Amino acid sequence: METKSKKKAKPPAKKDKPELKELKIREATTIKEFAEKINLKSKDLSDKLTQRGFSFNVNDIIDESLIKVLSEELGLNLSLSSVEEEVRSLAYSRPEELIPRSPVVTIMGHVDHGKTTLLDSIRKSNIADKEAGGITQHIGASRVYHKDRFITFIDTPGHEAFTRMRARGAKLTDIVVLVVAADDGVMPQTREAINHAREAGVPIIVAINKIDKPEANIEKTKQQLSKEGLLVEEWGGDTICVEVSAKERLNIEELLEMIILLGEVMEIKANPKVPAQGVVLEARLDSKKGPLATIIVQHGVLKPGESFISGTCYGKIRALFDEHGKSLTKAEPGFPVEVLGFSEVPSPGDVFQVVNDIETAKRIVEYRLSQLKKGETRRPQHLTLEDLFKKIEEGEIKELPLIIKGDVFGSVEVLRDLLPNLSSDKIKLKIIHSAAGNITESDVLLASASKAIIIGYNLKPSAKIVEMAKEENVEIRAYNVIYELIDDIKNALRGLQEPKLREVYLGKAEVRRIFQIPKVGPVAGCFVIDGKITRNADVRVIRNNEIVYQGKISSLKHLKENVSEISKDYECGIALQKFKDIQEGDIIEAYIREKAM
Ligand code: GDP
Repeated sequence: METKSKKKAKPPAKKDKPELKELKIREATTIKEFAEKINLKSKDLSDKLTQRGFSFNVNDIIDESLIKVLSEELGLNLSLSSVEEEVRSLAYSRPEELIPRSPVVTIMGHVDHGKTTLLDSIRKSNIADKEAGGITQHIGASRVYHKDRFITFIDTPGHEAFTRMRARGAKLTDIVVLVVAADDGVMPQTREAINHAREAGVPIIVAINKIDKPEANIEKTKQQLSKEGLLVEEWGGDTICVEVSAKERLNIEELLEMIILLGEVMEIKANPKVPAQGVVLEARLDSKKGPLATIIVQHGVLKPGESFISGTCYGKIRALFDEHGKSLTKAEPGFPVEVLGFSEVPSPGDVFQVVNDIETAKRIVEYRLSQLKKGETRRPQHLTLEDLFKKIEEGEIKELPLIIKGDVFGSVEVLRDLLPNLSSDKIKLKIIHSAAGNITESDVLLASASKAIIIGYNLKPSAKIVEMAKEENVEIRAYNVIYELIDDIKNALRGLQEPKLREVYLGKAEVRRIFQIPKVGPVAGCFVIDGKITRNADVRVIRNNEIVYQGKISSLKHLKENVSEISKDYECGIALQKFKDIQEGDIIEAYIREKAM
C-alpha cells in the first residue's frame, strides 16, 4: 500500500513520457472503498471530482467512465479487473504457496476408436471406484487414483465439449489423450482432435488402442501420426505414445503413469490459500435439490458455507458432493465437485469464485447485470474479417487463423497450399484446421475459441450452422470460385498495406458571439486563439471538454470577405455544415488529415 502525496503538483493532463503507476480496481468497488485503499479520505476524493464538475456519492460504484476521470485526477494508470482476475493474479503472485495440482484430462479421437471403452477401463482399474462398489454418479468428471496421485478425467469425451468450454473462455483441460485405433489409423476426427488440442495449446498423449486385434497395425498408425506432426519418442520426436487395449485392459496403468509424469513435467500448480476458484463444467436444475453445478476447483479449497459468484449467478454453498454422491467437507484444487446452493443454474464454462460474504456476492452480480443492461456484455466481440484486419493493422494481431472447409478434398488441398502464400510481413495466414465436408458445429466452436474465420468453398452452410455462427460471433465466408476467394483475401490484405491517415492539428478559435443570419443560420463570431483555421479543414466543436460536433466549415469570413484561411489573433465568422447549436464560449478546433508515413 503506497500512500501518494497528492498535495502539490497536479498531474499534467497530457504527457506521454512518465510511466504512470498501474493500479487495478476490482469491479463493483465504491469510491469510498477505493479511497481507503489508496489512503485518501473519501470526502477529499469526491471533492476533487466535484471540482471537476462531476457529481458523485461516495457509495457510487466505479465504472469505466469514472476510471478515466480518476486516472487523470490521481495521475495513475487505473483499470478495472474482475474478482476472478484479481484472485488469479494473487494466486500466482506468491510462488512459495503453489503446490502441484493433479492434471485434468480429456479423451479425444475418432468415433468408435474406443474413447468410452478406455474411460471405462481406466475407471475400473481404479481402487477407489471398486471400494465404492463402482457406483459412479454422473457429475461430468471423475477422479482416478494411480499410486498416491489422482487424475481428473472429464467424462464427455471428444473435442466438441472441449472446444465449447474453450469458446466460453475456460481453460480446463491440461492434457489430451488422443485415442487412435490401430486397426483403423488416423481418421478425419483424429485430425480434428489434434487441431483442436493444438489450437488450445494443450499437450497430447497418444493412446494407440485396439492392439489386441489381429489387424492392428501399430507401425502404420505411428507413421500416419507423424504426418500429422505427432512424432513418437522412439522415432526421435517428443510425443508420448502408449499402446493399449481398452477392451482387454492392457497397459492402462502405463497410460496413467505417463499422464502423471507429463503433469509433473508441465508443473501444473495451484495455490490452495487464495479464495477458491474453479470452472463450471456442467449445470442443471434438479427437481429436489434445485440448481446444481459441477465445479472443477483450480485454486483454493472450497468449503460448505462459503459465498460465491459465477458469471451473473451467486449463492452460498449448502453442500458439496463427490462423484460417488459422498458429501464432502472440503474440495481441494483438481477436485471435481457437485455444488449445491446456486441462486440459479450457472453457465458451463463460467468461472466460479468464492467471495467474502453473500452481500459482496450480490453486489458484484448486481453490478454485472447493470453492465449487461448497458450493453457492456462480457461475451466475445464480433470479429468480422474487416474487424480482424483493423486489429492486425493496429498491431494487436499478427496472425489470421483460418478454418477451411470444401466440398471435395482436392479443393481443400489447393486452398491449403495457396492461402498461406498470401501472408505478408504484417500478417500471417494460419490454417488451423482444414477438411473436406460441410461446416460442422465443431468448426464453429473451434473458430469461436480461436477467433478464426471459416472459409467455405463450394458448399452451403446449413441454417442451423448459420444460426450458431451468429450466436458465437463467427464469420463464415462462402465462395464458389477459387479466384474470387483469393482476390477477396488479397484485397483485404492490400488494404492493410495502405498508409494510415494521420490527424494534423491546425489551430483553435473561440466563439465570442452568435449571429443569426437569415437563410444561413447561426454564424459564430470567433477569435483565433492559436494557429490558424482554414476553409477546407475538418473541425470539431468543444464545449466543457466534450466534443459536441465534428464536421466541416461551410463558410469562413473575415470582415464579410470569404477567406481561405485566417491566423492567430484575428477575428472571423465561421458557419458550420449541419450544426445549428453553436454557442458562445465553444472552442472550434481545426485539423486536417494526411497520410502517415
Ligand atoms: P468411441 O466412439 O470412441 O467412444 O468408441 P467406443 O468406446 O464406443 O468403442 C467402439 C467399439 O470398439 C466398441 O465395440 C468397443 O467394444 C470396441 N473397442 C474399444 N476398445 C477396444 C479394444 O481395445 N479392442 C477391441 N478389440 N475392441 C475395442
